[in-house]
Amino acid sequence: MPIYKAPLRDMKFAMQELFANSEQSSLPVFENLSEQDIDMILAEAAKFCENILFPLNLSGDTEGCHWENREVRTPKGFKEAYKEFVDSGWASLACEPEFGGQGLPETIALAVEEMVCSSNLSFGLYPGLTRGAYQLLLKHGTNELKHHYLPKMVEGVWSGTMCLTEPHCGTDLGLVRTKALSQSDGSYKITGTKIFISSGEHDLTENIIHFVLARTPEGPLGIRGVSLFLVPKFLTNSNGEIMERNAVYCDSIEHKMGLKGSATCVLNFEEATGWLVGTLYKGVANMFTMMNNERLAVGNQGLGIAEISYQNALIYAKERLQGRALTGVKYPEKAADPIIVHPDVRKMLLTMKAYNEGNRMLGTWVAFHSIRSQTAENESEREEADDFVQLMTPIIKAFMTDCGTEVASLGVQIYGGHGYIHEHGMEQYMRDARIAQIYEGTNGVQALDLVGRKIPTATGRYLRRFFHPVYDYIQEKQQDELLAEFIGPLHKAFDRLQQATISLAQRGLSNPNEIGAAASDYLRMFALTAHAYLWAQACEVAYAKRDGHDKAFYESKIITARFFMQKILPQTSSLFACIMAGSKPLMEFKEEAFGPF
Ligand SMILES: Cc1cc2nc3c(=O)[nH]c(=O)nc-3n(C[C@H](O)[C@H](O)[C@H](O)COP(=O)(O)OP(=O)(O)OC[C@H]3O[C@@H](n4cnc5c(N)ncnc54)[C@H](O)[C@@H]3O)c2cc1C
Repeated sequence: MPIYKAPLRDMKFAMQELFANSEQSSLPVFENLSEQDIDMILAEAAKFCENILFPLNLSGDTEGCHWENREVRTPKGFKEAYKEFVDSGWASLACEPEFGGQGLPETIALAVEEMVCSSNLSFGLYPGLTRGAYQLLLKHGTNELKHHYLPKMVEGVWSGTMCLTEPHCGTDLGLVRTKALSQSDGSYKITGTKIFISSGEHDLTENIIHFVLARTPEGPLGIRGVSLFLVPKFLTNSNGEIMERNAVYCDSIEHKMGLKGSATCVLNFEEATGWLVGTLYKGVANMFTMMNNERLAVGNQGLGIAEISYQNALIYAKERLQGRALTGVKYPEKAADPIIVHPDVRKMLLTMKAYNEGNRMLGTWVAFHSIRSQTAENESEREEADDFVQLMTPIIKAFMTDCGTEVASLGVQIYGGHGYIHEHGMEQYMRDARIAQIYEGTNGVQALDLVGRKIPTATGRYLRRFFHPVYDYIQEKQQDELLAEFIGPLHKAFDRLQQATISLAQRGLSNPNEIGAAASDYLRMFALTAHAYLWAQACEVAYAKRDGHDKAFYESKIITARFFMQKILPQTSSLFACIMAGSKPLMEFKEEAFGPF
């Protein structure tokens, strides 16, 4: 049976030590929050995740969700766990006090979400989607809609969904066919079929609030004619009391590879009553508030799964006895040495550890900017922080979920054949992790967003929010002997990233396929360079603190950073070569040449 222990020490490092002298110290939202308060909140969340959610993970995967008569029952124990989740206030951490939220910083919510994703990703999707829906309504809803729906969503007694996908319409949202007909009372009648809707129907909340993309008949064709509507499962009176059932029904749930405790629904809207959210025809742009929020959350899902995979692989590698160390017997009293003595196993473990800790720093770094983008005192500071979040969102989504699958797969590998067997739990992590590379915009589409949209924005304004601080940091630390082994590789990777950026910007002007062909490699190269920048700073902190208590923790940071610089970061060199090879090797290939022969 797998175990889970929330990585509180490393979370504290990312949240309270790494950025202690920069972003965090100047954010007003932290003013009345001591270090001890944060430790206490996270320790309580850890208890909940370890003791309540985690024990339901394997059983939820085995049992799955049940569909009958257009209703869905979640796996045994989910309902009680959900009640405890909302009663303990975990649903409302970073929500606005005006709507009943606790107004805590997003970095805390991020850490709690990581724990939820590690302990039970399927469960995490139910409150996770609600948080995105909350952000969407908060930003684009009328006051009336906000005051009617947000308090119950924040409380967790109503949940939210995101209804984009249709059978013929996935990535290309301009193909949406669901119809919205305006009514004389200002509402709309929504008709159409949405597929793959996470938490579209379930038994955890009193009401489910769907956010639906649909088109009005008079609107323009394509993406410019799509609008956003709020469609509740139950209609309510002005006091928010549940009245009659609205005409939106779940006609089946998907049988899928993983996330079996999460209901993935086909929803039929049969002239269901809905209300416009935001301006007509701005549906996709407004939906991006939710999608961007979810993209950051999905990146965190990748980290959550990767963390639990690592923890279990590490225990196994220390216990499993096979073969002897290449340099001679290490444990003569045992029948064989534990597999952690083998270089190949160490390489897998260190890769997992380096990606996880790097991604935790990356996610926290972006979360600080997200807080700053909403709460900084002056407009230019808010804009600067928002630019950075925009730039990093596709990187967080794609790189952290790619790592989720890679790390989960390494976890299976370390377990050998036992990793492939259900009862050990490792194969579930691999199955659960896989979808995160697909939903919320596939990782290929994230890469196109980065290279095709984010980088050229305002002639590189977003990009400068990353390039300038990294450049300045390298200049500042170039003569630092202690950090030389980290700054050197960072400098090389950064130079390559700059060269690739300039080359792509030029080549992309005359041939857009150059962008498409390079995008995924470029995104990975960017992410690894960002990791290198964060690892260098982590080492600075670790060197400064390693002579106090927690010496082993800080020493481990330095050694992990060394491994990252020497064994992972060199990937940027081959990625650079692939980017520079251009689109020709892909595009000169005639379709017939793919076969079949
Ligand atoms: C378990 C699960 C939960 C989900 N939850 C939700 C939900 O809550 N709400 C919701 O609305 N949807 C949800 N989805 C749907 C999900 O977001 C889509 O599956 C995803 O966006 C991809 O769409 P698609 O499956 O139609 O693939 P397609 O769009 O058909 O893409 C197929 C392949 O082509 C590539 N491709 C497509 N267009 C381009 C392009 N322009 N350039 C380059 N490559 C391209 C893609 O990267 C992909 O590899 C869920 C799906 C699953 C499986």
